[in-house]
Amino acid sequence: MPVVGWTDDEGLTWKFEDIAAGYGKFAAPRPVLLAMAATDSGRGYADVTASFIASRLWRQKLLQERHLLYPHWADSYFLWLGIAVHSAAEEAALRDARPGDVITERQMCYQHHAGPWVGGRVDLLIREGAGQSPFALWDYKTTGAYTGKMIVANGIVTERPEWQAQLSIYRWLARQATRSHKANGGGMVNQPLDVGPIKVCCLYRDWKPRDGVPPVQTFTVPYLGDAAVRELIDTAVADWLKLRDVPDDALPPCELDQLWLQGIENPRSPNCGKLLRCEEYCLVPHYCSQYQTALMMRNQKGLKGFTLELAQAAYCEVASWK
Ligand code: SF4
Repeated sequence: MPVVGWTDDEGLTWKFEDIAAGYGKFAAPRPVLLAMAATDSGRGYADVTASFIASRLWRQKLLQERHLLYPHWADSYFLWLGIAVHSAAEEAALRDARPGDVITERQMCYQHHAGPWVGGRVDLLIREGAGQSPFALWDYKTTGAYTGKMIVANGIVTERPEWQAQLSIYRWLARQATRSHKANGGGMVNQPLDVGPIKVCCLYRDWKPRDGVPPVQTFTVPYLGDAAVRELIDTAVADWLKLRDVPDDALPPCELDQLWLQGIENPRSPNCGKLLRCEEYCLVPHYCSQYQTALMMRNQKGLKGFTLELAQAAYCEVASWK
């Protein structure tokens, strides 16, 4: 559930009532806060989720888990908008279908070799054909229209490999007899479901007619294959076991290609040298020694002098702490 409070820089925790009363940065209307508080973001009870595995951003995810117990409600805003759109589409699919032809929000969870619980939650399983694997697996993504244009231009595999990994894990999980959650000793068991095509349905939150793509697009995603999925899960579980007690500074660094270093193609850009993901998307740069090291190097050199080589040096410095 998105938490509608936050801990500010001085360690003060601001709760629902404070924000609704208008204290602190970004007050929010009470009905919106109530709606956010009532929304389940779907992490479920798994220790290691499919989206976690697919993202490869272990440092960011683990720092968030450790330090953002009360993230600012505004940081959950787009997540909440996305979930609201998912829910509307899923409910409409349920109303439209014959009983048994649509399954929404299927929780899938299993215990990996008596260790951590691995799982995920599928938005929609819908009967689209006949034969052995009649169900298609759908995942909704609220995203920018730029993503759609890039997918059309490059093909989905090269453009969003993390989506391919996430959906492939879902498909693999659907074919296991999974438990609904680990509470109550494992809860209900989902019977294996043989899934055929896997699809991502993109809903563009900033769409304009001049984008040249429709506001909603569905793409079929190639399945990675059972062996590749099992390897992804095995590696992620091994990493999770290894990293859960590791101090912040010793967490593996985020990969350079994930930090969106600006100015590689256009060194004259005013943003040249900026690490866009760290500065505009990540919620934990204050806690991240990798970013702080990069920032220190950049301050010495100035923004424009902060080249790919320097970002690489910051990356290596953190990597050597492992
Ligand atoms: S600040 Fe940057 S390097 Fe650090 S966790 Fe966030 S994205 Fe990764």
